[in-house]
Amino acid sequence: MYRTHNCGELSLNQKGEKVTLSGWAQKIRNKGFIIWIDIRDRYGITQLVFDNERTSKEVYEKAKQINREYVIQINGIVLERESKNPQIQTGSIEIFVEKLNILNKSETPPFTIEEKTDGGDELRMKYRYLDLRRNPVKNNLIFRHNVTMKVRNFLSNTGFIDIETPCLIKSTPEGARDFIVPSRMNPKEFYALPQSPQTFKQLLMVGGIDKYFQIVKCFRDEDLRADRQPEFTQIDCEMSYVTQDDVLNQFESLIIYLIKEINNKTVNSFPRIKYEDAILNYGTDKPDIRFEMKIHELNSLAKNKGFNVFDKEELILAISVPNAASYSRKQIDNLTDWVKKPQIGANGLIWVKYESENNIKSSVDKFFNLSEIKKWIKKCDSNPGDLILIISGERKDCRVQIGNLRLKMGGDLGLRNPEEFAPVWITDFPLLYWDDELKKYNAMHHPFTSPKNDHIKFLDSNPEKVKANAYDLVINGNEIGGGSIRIHDTKLQQKIFKILGFSNEEAEKQFGFLMNSFKYGAPPHGGIAFGLDRLVAILKGKETIRDFIAFPKNNSGRDIMLDAPSTIDSNQLDELSLSLKSKK
Ligand code: ASP
Repeated sequence: MYRTHNCGELSLNQKGEKVTLSGWAQKIRNKGFIIWIDIRDRYGITQLVFDNERTSKEVYEKAKQINREYVIQINGIVLERESKNPQIQTGSIEIFVEKLNILNKSETPPFTIEEKTDGGDELRMKYRYLDLRRNPVKNNLIFRHNVTMKVRNFLSNTGFIDIETPCLIKSTPEGARDFIVPSRMNPKEFYALPQSPQTFKQLLMVGGIDKYFQIVKCFRDEDLRADRQPEFTQIDCEMSYVTQDDVLNQFESLIIYLIKEINNKTVNSFPRIKYEDAILNYGTDKPDIRFEMKIHELNSLAKNKGFNVFDKEELILAISVPNAASYSRKQIDNLTDWVKKPQIGANGLIWVKYESENNIKSSVDKFFNLSEIKKWIKKCDSNPGDLILIISGERKDCRVQIGNLRLKMGGDLGLRNPEEFAPVWITDFPLLYWDDELKKYNAMHHPFTSPKNDHIKFLDSNPEKVKANAYDLVINGNEIGGGSIRIHDTKLQQKIFKILGFSNEEAEKQFGFLMNSFKYGAPPHGGIAFGLDRLVAILKGKETIRDFIAFPKNNSGRDIMLDAPSTIDSNQLDELSLSLKSKK
């Protein structure tokens, strides 16, 4: 038997007992006459003691050979420790070792494997299996496990069936590039890895499954973006005979349940904000509503008053930052530099300090008189003590810029507490958007999303006006999930494919299987998918999804431990009919 207990459970309750433990040597302190070794496993750390006088010579000599990360097994007696460590479960005891077995040696690890490490990101990823021995990383995985177990239980208890769908499939259009897998048995033909199980879950509804879920890997070949993984996990769900409200209510209760179970926090029903209003008020379709600070438009009050900076621009937008009127010149200069940096791209920043009714200063005093500025203050719902920040610019950029400034100010003022959860549904997305490069319409969500019933009539005349039965769940400014009520009518689906620029043949070739299934009585259906990696990170109050994935890829999509992707040898290329030779 390798162990009677784990390294995290012994306490004074076992004082005097003989125990067997196995684990890794974490810390070794050799005082010459006494050796302490901390032994670690998944469950914790226990202090071992070897004593020059009382420990047998053989065991003592062996203990001297132990280095960091050696795998050892010991038998010994639980003793009360003299200097106790109340921080850890086993802090009141130590084991007086009688037998020692070195199960495996270890090279000196490339970084310290403790709570805090000296290893940089790159090194930790290369030796991820060592990083996993560290508490913070391991605890994140345990946390993720707890979340997925709760999700599974909740969905199973509410009637959802977990069904696996294939990974070697035909392209699913979710707006990214597909990862492609060459087929050896079908030369020059390729599978695609699923960007999501979208078409399969719809087929499951045609198949009468009624409620489906799957915690599933999805693959998207997207360009480099911070904290994106080419393969990631979704909680993918679909339901039959549902309206948008049914779906939102069902999954709102899942998220409320998770926040309660995992964080012991109570969130009530989520606000629902229309896409258009989100953009107007927050400059983004993923608003962080932990704080207010909405965007206000000053065009009618500030344009054409002789101030060229405003006059020449399409939009003048303002936010009112609470209790920031006391910002110093230097602080405001820093903000100006911030909005001007290329990632934000604003031309500059105008400010109004509304200290009190009788004390109002602005950076444009020369151009606007007090009564004009007071109108801005009113428009912005400002309170005494507020600092109004104004950005002007082109319509397509200005809202995003001030939306980013809003987030920065929220962060600077401590209004974005990671332990607070502010979920919100964003609804009424446009069905389509115009892709200026490709000169065609694209689906905003995906091509299977249904238009709002009373908007179908605009599909021909004014496609951009058409709103979809599509929704996103946003928590604390992060898109956590999205879905839609689907089209279940072949004719309408054909029409949408056509608007999206598919010829009948192309639509048939790519989606014939789905359209065919619709001919056999497709029920009305809809669903949603959540990004599990991000949901887990947010529930833990963190933003980096990589920390919650056992073996993540780096920002260039590489696995630096495996050194993948990598070249393959010419025989393999031959077999796949991919080599130059086989191209002949
Ligand atoms: N398949 C969609 C996605 O991956 C989710 C959905 O529409 O249910 O975003």
